[in-house]
Amino acid sequence: MEIGQKNHKCVGNTSMFENALEEFSHAAEKIKIDSDVLEMLTQPKRAIEFSIPVKMDSGKIKVFIGYRIQFNNLLGPMKGGIRFHPKVCADEVEALAFLMTWKCAISDIPFGGAKGGIVVDPKELSKSELEALSRGYMAAVAPFIGPKTDIPAPDINTNAQIMAWMSDEYNKIAGQNEPAAITGKPIVLGGSLGRDTATGQGGIFALLEVAKVIDLPGKTVAIQGFGNAGSNFAEILEKEGKFKIVAVSDSKGGIYDPDGLDISELIRHKKTTGRVSRFNNSQEITGEELLELDVDVLVPAALENQITKENADKIKAKLIIELANGPTTFEADEILFKNGNIVVPDIFANSGGVIVSYFEWVQNNTRHYWSAEEVHEKLREKMTCNFKRLFEYSEKHNISFRTSAYIQAIEKMIEAVKLK
Ligand code: NAD
Repeated sequence: MEIGQKNHKCVGNTSMFENALEEFSHAAEKIKIDSDVLEMLTQPKRAIEFSIPVKMDSGKIKVFIGYRIQFNNLLGPMKGGIRFHPKVCADEVEALAFLMTWKCAISDIPFGGAKGGIVVDPKELSKSELEALSRGYMAAVAPFIGPKTDIPAPDINTNAQIMAWMSDEYNKIAGQNEPAAITGKPIVLGGSLGRDTATGQGGIFALLEVAKVIDLPGKTVAIQGFGNAGSNFAEILEKEGKFKIVAVSDSKGGIYDPDGLDISELIRHKKTTGRVSRFNNSQEITGEELLELDVDVLVPAALENQITKENADKIKAKLIIELANGPTTFEADEILFKNGNIVVPDIFANSGGVIVSYFEWVQNNTRHYWSAEEVHEKLREKMTCNFKRLFEYSEKHNISFRTSAYIQAIEKMIEAVKLK
């Protein structure tokens, strides 16, 4: 079923797409852009919504709703993860596909933007139900995706195992082995070394680069979200040894220890108990309290719309590294800028994941696989070059990193439109 009207804002939620459009428009206003080009850049190329019937262990059939939104392919095949979450909706997937478009453009990788999702709480499914759902999703989108058109990847609650099932399903439908149709696969099925930690590692490169050019009063860090992005970021940061992680949260609550948390121990604790709370002698805090802690660096690494006009004035961190997609609303962003908080925007800060997904796609296409060191070095080079461009532009024009990132991406897209 094609989505016709755009009246698909999620119930009880700030529209993430409207928010992303506001950020985009704020940047677009600063450059000369024709209204027809603007319209072209803000409409998705294709939006599909479909049902996935799954035979549950009980023998009954349950129908799940899935989405794939392909936003823009001006710069290359579209790219974006698949999210499994009860709050997934068309508005959220569209916003994430829109963000992917600009993220790929400023990351200097030859991809457009897309995103997908299923409305589901995967924790309520057995392993066989989860496999059937993942294969069902792929069966529905297979006619629209592929290594030269649209390449999915993991996102919230999806991982290498789910990518393995999806890749296998795609290969069966295509009648050939096509590892480049999906990234974030296990290594043995053509995954790239370093992809599992890439979003966190990219965030570390971003933090280290920014810390060279701004004056950070201290080195304390609070991280919201302890999944793929947040926990890998924390683990690598601990090894770097230059910062002290004093607070972490997940969906069940948060913990705080002014002396610093032992992250390796916390990862073991999360694995065995399924939560970060009740950890050693740390103090229990709420997710809201974590955001407002008196720390130097705040790292939202969970969901969207976490920093809003309600709490933006209470954010004390000088630096905010957006590992999550869309964690700051447009209004909050303006308050933070006015207050002197420095926001390193999602479309740059969490681009490590899509950059290494691009490396995986290159390796799959050439059937030549790189060492972990090569991947690490290539990611470091991309993140530092991309930050240099971002920093120089925002310094020259006295604008935020986010506006600078959007302007650079929009200019690139306008050039592509003109040349085409
Ligand atoms: P994940 O499913 O691995 O982890 C999500 C984490 O957030 C979990 O620890 C969960 O408990 C926590 N969480 C959920 N609700 C929370 C709340 N209200 N307060 C605090 N914590 C909460 O997902 P992920 O892959 O780490 O993705 C996290 C964010 O990073 C998302 O916005 C995603 O789009 C973005 N991102 C991920 C990747 C990637 O490669 N995985 C790449 C780019 C961006």
